[in-house]
Amino acid sequence: MSNLVLNELRNDPFGPEKVLMVTDPRTGMRGYLVIDNTARGVGKGGVRMQPDLTLKEILRLARTMTWKNAAADLPLGGAKGGIVADPHDPNREALIRSYARSLRSLIPDEYVFGLDMGLTENDAALVVDELGKPAVATGKPACLGGIPYDELMITGYGVVESIEVACQLVDIELEGARVVVQGFGAVGRGVAHFCHKKGALVVAVSDSKKVLWDPEGLDVEHLLQVKRATGSLQGARCGRPIPHGEELLLEAEVLVPAARGDVITLENVHGVKAKVVAEGANCAVTVEAQRELHKRGVYLIPDFIANAGGVIAAYIEMVNGTPSQAFEYTRDKVRKNTLEMFQICQRTGLIPREAAMKMARERVIEAMVAKGSWKERR
Ligand code: NAD
Repeated sequence: MSNLVLNELRNDPFGPEKVLMVTDPRTGMRGYLVIDNTARGVGKGGVRMQPDLTLKEILRLARTMTWKNAAADLPLGGAKGGIVADPHDPNREALIRSYARSLRSLIPDEYVFGLDMGLTENDAALVVDELGKPAVATGKPACLGGIPYDELMITGYGVVESIEVACQLVDIELEGARVVVQGFGAVGRGVAHFCHKKGALVVAVSDSKKVLWDPEGLDVEHLLQVKRATGSLQGARCGRPIPHGEELLLEAEVLVPAARGDVITLENVHGVKAKVVAEGANCAVTVEAQRELHKRGVYLIPDFIANAGGVIAAYIEMVNGTPSQAFEYTRDKVRKNTLEMFQICQRTGLIPREAAMKMARERVIEAMVAKGSWKERR
């Protein structure tokens, strides 16, 4: 290995436990698997397919999964995989099969395959076919025992459960509260749908094409129908269009950025009026902006607490559970984790993201101590 690769391989007391590079000259497959930490359970985290993928990226994402799975309080470790290829490669099936074959000795005892960028449920089905049993992968089609969490909007459901806990802490009733949702994809649609079901007023939603606002509340079911039928909010017949970005600054009790990262920064955080902000999208609010919100008494629910519904559903799929069990488990875990995180904030003065990290680290350390590996690795 070159020095460059070796430099990326520094470890700390948490991991990584295993770093693999796999190749197959017959198919041209090149891929990585990093199993970061399995103190709490088998390594779990999706595989991405990307032409410019690096080991450094996979190492970082595997560690993120260690914290994310522990913060969600799942009995899972952290891992991440990657195949260095264009997702449109005509050879894609052979690459995926070859990647799965080369990791046969680790799957599913040390790593369970999952989906990330560039892969779809059909790819999970190929992995099941190649390795011969459903337990090797999550993200499978429903006909193979998969839980289609995007279709069921489970992540958005979990975000709303976390919002309800935060609202109780700031003495706001979610029923009747005004909610703004940026992004109307798998997460944002779920947030709008479940907020509406709980009696909240969804006053603004946006996608990449349009932002719609109605201070009296939008017709959420109509918006969902239009988005489903046309793929965009363009043709919706409710609300007034406003410029992109303004939805973040509207008068509302709850704000959910569920589109992209870094949309609330030091530049615009002073205009945010919501009392509860839930990161539906990963890293939607910069850490500096999170500190500002915290100073103002705004309750921010960080991504890996709020949007854990997807990983929770993947765990339920691993244990052969049903979609309704995935909803139930998401509700229980997300509510408990949100409350525990805010209690840590109150006790320590940490901002929620730091409190969630503390919670995750302590859970991993507790498992390592119990297994005797914390002392040995220090
Ligand atoms: P998606 O692609 O289904 O939806 C993204 C939505 O954002 C689309 O409606 C798109 O039009 C909209 N959008 C893009 N740019 C916008 C802009 N400038 N203004 C307003 N809207 C804009 O993606 P998703 O699955 O809903 O994921 C959204 C985010 O949540 C990502 O950061 C993703 O990593 C994260 N996330 C998703 C899940 C999940 O279960 N799907 C789980 C955890 C985290």
